[in-house]
Amino acid sequence: MKIVVLTKAAVPLSPSLVKIDPETGTLVREGVPLTSNVWDRDAVELALKLKDKYSGEVIALSMAPPSGIPALESLIGMGVDRAILVSDKAFAGADTWATAHVLAKTIEKYVPDYDLIVTGEETIDSATAHIGAQTANWLGVPYVYYVYDAEVRNKTLIVRRFLEDEGIDETYEVEMPAVISVLKGSQVPREVRLSRKLNAREYIQVVSNKELGLDPDCVGLRGSPTVVAGMAPATYPPRKKIVLQGEPTEVVKKLIQILREEGIL
Ligand SMILES: Cc1cc2nc3c(=O)[nH]c(=O)nc-3n(C[C@H](O)[C@H](O)[C@H](O)COP(=O)(O)OP(=O)(O)OC[C@H]3O[C@@H](n4cnc5c(N)ncnc54)[C@H](O)[C@@H]3O)c2cc1C
Repeated sequence: MKIVVLTKAAVPLSPSLVKIDPETGTLVREGVPLTSNVWDRDAVELALKLKDKYSGEVIALSMAPPSGIPALESLIGMGVDRAILVSDKAFAGADTWATAHVLAKTIEKYVPDYDLIVTGEETIDSATAHIGAQTANWLGVPYVYYVYDAEVRNKTLIVRRFLEDEGIDETYEVEMPAVISVLKGSQVPREVRLSRKLNAREYIQVVSNKELGLDPDCVGLRGSPTVVAGMAPATYPPRKKIVLQGEPTEVVKKLIQILREEGIL
């Protein structure tokens, strides 16, 4: 089974590292130490479980600046066989549509015989949860999200998913190739093995638009139909420091009364 895991080298959620380009309104990634998107470890774990069961290959694919390499190294440390980093200045400023376009074209060129594409549910730094669906759309293959388990029966993929809000457990039969997004927190990701991580760089192939040959008007900011209309820092009302003292039942009653007065309850 040939499985491609899409994975993002994300901007760590630290106020000192999150910077917005005032002209384009986009997140600045250049010069920021990127980290492996934590929810992608669920996707990697499910892909590795499928490989353990049916054999084959797991390939991580990421569109990121060169600073995304350490994130891929850690996934190779988890057990991923090899990785492709697709990286080019022409891809900077991409919205989710343009990102999925590049990912789909890279798969078509470098892993045309894939059986399954596995993604995380969402990222820590943008969290649109668009990429899985849009990549499936670019490739013209089926897509199922919130997946927590998968198996192959008669060359068909049986996936189980859980819709958290409704508490509904569903089973789907999907023709392969397909794309699935893995429910965050649904797996117990295996450890990164230092011995594998140390030599990981030799298993990472870096691809630019020179090799992909995509039209510069269809990638990056120029190929992005989404426009950031405006951006403003979040403002929070000043904190009221109120200490409630007394018997627990009385304190809870007072707390509820205050929350009602403040319009919170
Ligand atoms: C107009 C616009 C401009 C933007 N410009 C920039 C910019 O200049 N710099 C910037 O950093 N971001 C930019 N972004 C955000 C960027 O488009 C998204 O970070 C990116 O497309 C992925 O979306 P997401 O993080 O919401 O992923 P989600 O859809 O939440 O991710 C779901 C899953 O898809 C996979 N995935 C997500 N991103 C990638 C990737 N790059 N490679 C491989 N797999 C991936 C992972 O498995 C992830 O778990 C811009 C967005 C918009 C709307």
